[in-house]
Amino acid sequence: MADLNKIVSEQAKIMNIRAVPVVEEDSGNASTDGKAVYVNPQFMSKIENSAGEGGVRFVLSHELGHIAAGMGGGQQAELDADQMAARSVAAAGVKRSSIQAVMTHLPKESSESHPGAGAREDVALQAFQQEGRYLDEEDRASKKKKLHKENRRES
Ligand SMILES: [Zn+2]
Repeated sequence: MADLNKIVSEQAKIMNIRAVPVVEEDSGNASTDGKAVYVNPQFMSKIENSAGEGGVRFVLSHELGHIAAGMGGGQQAELDADQMAARSVAAAGVKRSSIQAVMTHLPKESSESHPGAGAREDVALQAFQQEGRYLDEEDRASKKKKLHKENRRES
Protein backbone atom coordinates (compact mmCIF):
# COMPACT_ATOMS: atom_id res chain seq x y z
CA MET A 1 0.00 0.00 0.00
CA ALA A 2 1.23 3.48 -0.86
CA ASP A 3 2.36 5.68 2.05
CA LEU A 4 -0.86 7.60 2.60
CA ASN A 5 0.52 10.08 5.13
CA LYS A 6 3.38 10.93 2.78
CA ILE A 7 0.95 11.51 -0.09
CA VAL A 8 -1.28 13.70 2.08
CA SER A 9 1.66 15.82 3.19
CA GLU A 10 2.86 16.24 -0.44
CA GLN A 11 -0.60 17.14 -1.74
CA ALA A 12 -1.34 19.44 1.20
CA LYS A 13 1.83 21.33 0.36
CA ILE A 14 0.73 21.73 -3.28
CA MET A 15 -2.71 22.90 -2.10
CA ASN A 16 -1.14 25.26 0.40
CA ILE A 17 -2.90 23.85 3.45
CA ARG A 18 -1.66 22.07 6.57
CA ALA A 19 -1.39 18.28 6.34
CA VAL A 20 -3.67 16.14 8.53
CA PRO A 21 -3.12 12.53 9.63
CA VAL A 22 -4.66 9.62 7.73
CA VAL A 23 -6.78 7.32 9.91
CA GLU A 24 -7.96 3.89 8.76
CA GLU A 25 -11.59 2.98 9.29
CA ASP A 26 -13.45 -0.16 8.22
CA SER A 27 -16.49 1.64 6.85
CA GLY A 28 -17.33 4.00 4.00
CA ASN A 29 -14.76 4.94 1.37
CA ALA A 30 -12.92 8.12 2.33
CA SER A 31 -14.00 11.16 4.33
CA THR A 32 -12.74 14.04 6.41
CA ASP A 33 -13.87 16.09 9.39
CA GLY A 34 -11.18 18.69 8.76
CA LYS A 35 -8.88 17.20 11.40
CA ALA A 36 -7.98 13.92 9.70
CA VAL A 37 -8.64 12.01 6.48
CA TYR A 38 -10.44 8.73 7.19
CA VAL A 39 -9.98 5.92 4.68
CA ASN A 40 -11.31 2.41 4.38
CA PRO A 41 -8.24 0.25 3.61
CA GLN A 42 -10.39 -2.07 1.48
CA PHE A 43 -11.56 0.82 -0.71
CA MET A 44 -8.05 2.22 -0.97
CA SER A 45 -6.54 -1.08 -2.11
CA LYS A 46 -9.26 -1.37 -4.74
CA ILE A 47 -8.30 2.13 -5.93
CA GLU A 48 -4.59 1.38 -5.86
CA ASN A 49 -5.05 -1.87 -7.79
CA SER A 50 -6.95 -0.26 -10.63
CA ALA A 51 -5.89 3.40 -10.60
CA GLY A 52 -2.41 3.09 -9.14
CA GLU A 53 -0.69 5.47 -6.74
CA GLY A 54 -2.07 8.37 -8.81
CA GLY A 55 -5.61 7.23 -8.04
CA VAL A 56 -4.86 7.03 -4.33
CA ARG A 57 -3.41 10.52 -4.60
CA PHE A 58 -6.60 11.79 -6.24
CA VAL A 59 -8.86 10.29 -3.54
CA LEU A 60 -6.78 11.76 -0.71
CA SER A 61 -6.57 15.11 -2.51
CA HIS A 62 -10.34 15.18 -2.86
CA GLU A 63 -10.63 15.02 0.95
CA LEU A 64 -7.95 17.72 1.29
CA GLY A 65 -9.99 19.76 -1.19
CA HIS A 66 -12.90 19.70 1.28
CA ILE A 67 -10.57 21.01 3.98
CA ALA A 68 -9.11 23.70 1.68
CA ALA A 69 -12.64 24.81 0.72
CA GLY A 70 -13.78 25.11 4.35
CA MET A 71 -15.76 21.86 4.71
CA GLY A 72 -19.01 22.94 3.04
CA GLY A 73 -21.52 20.26 2.01
CA GLY A 74 -23.72 19.53 -0.99
CA GLN A 75 -23.16 18.47 -4.58
CA GLN A 76 -21.28 21.65 -5.53
CA ALA A 77 -18.84 21.08 -2.66
CA GLU A 78 -18.09 17.63 -4.09
CA LEU A 79 -17.41 19.07 -7.55
CA ASP A 80 -15.23 21.80 -6.03
CA ALA A 81 -13.22 19.17 -4.13
CA ASP A 82 -12.86 17.14 -7.34
CA GLN A 83 -11.60 20.23 -9.18
CA MET A 84 -9.04 21.02 -6.50
CA ALA A 85 -7.95 17.41 -6.37
CA ALA A 86 -7.56 17.25 -10.16
CA ARG A 87 -5.44 20.40 -10.25
CA SER A 88 -3.22 19.28 -7.40
CA VAL A 89 -2.61 15.82 -8.83
CA ALA A 90 -1.81 17.35 -12.23
CA ALA A 91 0.83 19.42 -10.45
CA ALA A 92 2.17 16.20 -8.90
CA GLY A 93 2.53 14.60 -12.35
CA VAL A 94 -0.38 12.13 -12.11
CA LYS A 95 -1.85 10.89 -15.41
CA ARG A 96 -5.40 11.72 -16.42
CA SER A 97 -6.18 8.01 -16.78
CA SER A 98 -5.71 7.60 -13.01
CA ILE A 99 -8.59 10.02 -12.39
CA GLN A 100 -10.74 8.17 -14.92
CA ALA A 101 -9.96 4.87 -13.19
CA VAL A 102 -10.99 6.28 -9.79
CA MET A 103 -14.33 7.42 -11.24
CA THR A 104 -15.21 3.85 -12.24
CA HIS A 105 -15.37 3.03 -8.50
CA LEU A 106 -17.80 5.83 -7.64
CA PRO A 107 -21.62 5.57 -7.89
CA LYS A 108 -22.91 6.32 -11.41
CA GLU A 109 -26.19 7.71 -10.11
CA SER A 110 -26.26 11.08 -8.41
CA SER A 111 -27.37 11.05 -4.73
CA GLU A 112 -28.43 13.73 -2.28
CA SER A 113 -24.82 14.29 -1.25
CA HIS A 114 -22.85 13.41 -4.39
CA PRO A 115 -23.18 14.02 -8.13
CA GLY A 116 -22.89 10.93 -10.35
CA ALA A 117 -19.47 9.73 -11.48
CA GLY A 118 -19.96 11.05 -15.04
CA ALA A 119 -20.49 14.64 -13.92
CA ARG A 120 -17.62 14.38 -11.46
CA GLU A 121 -15.30 13.01 -14.12
CA ASP A 122 -16.17 15.84 -16.54
CA VAL A 123 -15.42 18.52 -13.96
CA ALA A 124 -12.23 16.81 -12.77
CA LEU A 125 -10.81 16.26 -16.25
CA GLN A 126 -11.54 19.83 -17.27
CA ALA A 127 -9.66 21.16 -14.23
CA PHE A 128 -6.86 18.67 -14.88
CA GLN A 129 -6.48 19.92 -18.45
CA GLN A 130 -6.50 23.58 -17.40
CA GLU A 131 -3.80 22.94 -14.82
CA GLY A 132 -1.80 21.02 -17.42
CA ARG A 133 -1.91 24.00 -19.80
CA TYR A 134 -0.81 26.32 -17.00
CA LEU A 135 2.09 24.01 -16.13
CA ASP A 136 3.13 23.87 -19.80
CA GLU A 137 3.15 27.66 -19.96
CA GLU A 138 5.22 27.88 -16.81
CA ASP A 139 7.60 25.38 -18.32
CA ARG A 140 7.91 27.36 -21.55
CA ALA A 141 8.39 30.57 -19.58
CA SER A 142 11.27 29.09 -17.61
CA LYS A 143 12.88 27.82 -20.82
CA LYS A 144 12.59 31.32 -22.24
CA LYS A 145 14.27 32.72 -19.15
CA LYS A 146 17.09 30.25 -19.50
CA LEU A 147 17.48 31.08 -23.19
CA HIS A 148 17.51 34.77 -22.36
CA LYS A 149 20.34 34.27 -19.86
CA GLU A 150 22.33 32.28 -22.41
CA ASN A 151 21.93 35.09 -24.91
CA ARG A 152 23.22 37.59 -22.42
CA ARG A 153 26.26 35.49 -21.75
CA GLU A 154 27.06 35.45 -25.45
CA SER A 155 26.83 39.18 -25.88
ZN1 LIG B 1 -16.26 14.56 -1.02
